[in-house]
Amino acid sequence: MFWADKKAAEIKEHFKSEKNPLVIRDEKTTSGWAHVGSMRSAAMHGVIAEALNDLNVANVYYFESNDFDAMDGIPVYLDEETYKPYLGMPLRDIPAPEGGQAKNLAEYFAEDFRRVIVETGFDVKFYYGSELYLAGKMDEVIREAILGADTIRKIYKEIAKSKKEDLWLPIMIKCPKCGKIATTQASDFDGDTVAFVCNPTKVEWAKGCNHSGRISPFGGNAKLPWKVEWAAKWKVMQVKVEGAGKDHSTKGGSRDVASAISEEVFHYDPPFDSPHEFFLVGGKKISSSKGLGATARAIVDLIPPKIFRLALVGKNIMQAVNFDPAGDSIPVLYDWYDKLAEKYWSDSKDDDARVFVLIHPPKERGNLEKRFLPRFSQVVFLVQMPHMDLYEEVEKMKGAPLTAHDKEELDLRAHYAKIWLEREAPEEYKYEIKKEVPEAARNLNENQKKALKAILDIISKAEKIDGQELHTKLHEVRKELNIEPSDFFSAIYLSILGKPNGPKAGWFLSVLDHSFLIRRFGQIVDQV
Ligand SMILES: [Zn+2]
Repeated sequence: MFWADKKAAEIKEHFKSEKNPLVIRDEKTTSGWAHVGSMRSAAMHGVIAEALNDLNVANVYYFESNDFDAMDGIPVYLDEETYKPYLGMPLRDIPAPEGGQAKNLAEYFAEDFRRVIVETGFDVKFYYGSELYLAGKMDEVIREAILGADTIRKIYKEIAKSKKEDLWLPIMIKCPKCGKIATTQASDFDGDTVAFVCNPTKVEWAKGCNHSGRISPFGGNAKLPWKVEWAAKWKVMQVKVEGAGKDHSTKGGSRDVASAISEEVFHYDPPFDSPHEFFLVGGKKISSSKGLGATARAIVDLIPPKIFRLALVGKNIMQAVNFDPAGDSIPVLYDWYDKLAEKYWSDSKDDDARVFVLIHPPKERGNLEKRFLPRFSQVVFLVQMPHMDLYEEVEKMKGAPLTAHDKEELDLRAHYAKIWLEREAPEEYKYEIKKEVPEAARNLNENQKKALKAILDIISKAEKIDGQELHTKLHEVRKELNIEPSDFFSAIYLSILGKPNGPKAGWFLSVLDHSFLIRRFGQIVDQV
């Protein structure tokens, strides 16, 4: 059973007496452009929600931008001098870079990430964490947390081995003078107010203003520290399902702390847990050159939603994914997609067929009719050949006229192939038919020239080249001549592209102009 269906079945059983729609929740502190890795968690919750829908379990998926968190560092793409004074302040109180629509820095990044999640096909209800505080919805849990300070201190000590001072209260006051929230320390709750001091040396990265006094911790004047806040939000939002990355899910980690606080301080059953492994990115290209890391935005623009979803959730969620947009991850994903499609269209009932359905955004699931799937790597080649008609070439591949569905898929692949070539594709996927005999083809050895001669004979005799047929013949010739495959095939590519690799040879030769091939191979063979 596919992992999401398994979880959905467990969740259904666990909450079988629940009358209300199950609340699923995920959150992110939007202090910069979201890294694509953040999408694994968002997608995991989204796919669980969809699998629950398929089991007729009513649910609602909330995604929170934690905008009340303090800014604790300045991303490289923001001006350091401008933003330095804001360190320690809640993200929602910091101005957005000029020129945008966003009301504040948190919204500036959050709105983009929200759109990424929606573009990936997930149905989320998006909200800002500060809304809960400002509307007074956190007041009750703030009171419970402050009154339960002893218990929280004990939980930190026993589970996380972290010791808090005796006077410590689990509340972060926003300094009414300097507006920083990371610099204050609170103590002495009298039922309505706490004493606080804005400490210049509490954290290294932000300086408190030394202001002190008493203030109400309610109504948006303060926030809970995050592990306490995590548990508090479960209660306030009535969360039933919420997982997190494995970094939080280790023994004694933040999840354990939050769960204990949830039970002992807020008397709320912690949600159904679903830890997940990471989504790693090997694409050094985007991380170093633009200083942005592989952002979720960059990737959602690079591949269609179904392929992005396949990358995020196709593997078991407890398996790490290594994704390299500047390597061959993307062509490999399309090939994987094509295999799943074949299973689905052959009426297989296994996990592959199920994955094929779930990786399509729900609104695309009514349009999964069989269609011809040209290999992505071949489309990548074709879009680089300005003299070729894409429909015509793919029709030849298919051996039958293209249907509307075929064209729809081909257009999609061609669109994304061009973007990939422009932004990320490695050199080995970039092809140019050389107008003259490439320099590299002048140094072919005798065996390679013999191979080209044999290929030239086949091509000259053929009226018309069929890719598959030629593929078989090439392998026969290679065996007859007893040439190493790498020598044999590189001779073909070097002669035409000036580089030792290229698309599948039989097909490659079949799409090139017949007389051009005869001329080119002839020129090289004659140089013997
Ligand atoms: Zn202050």
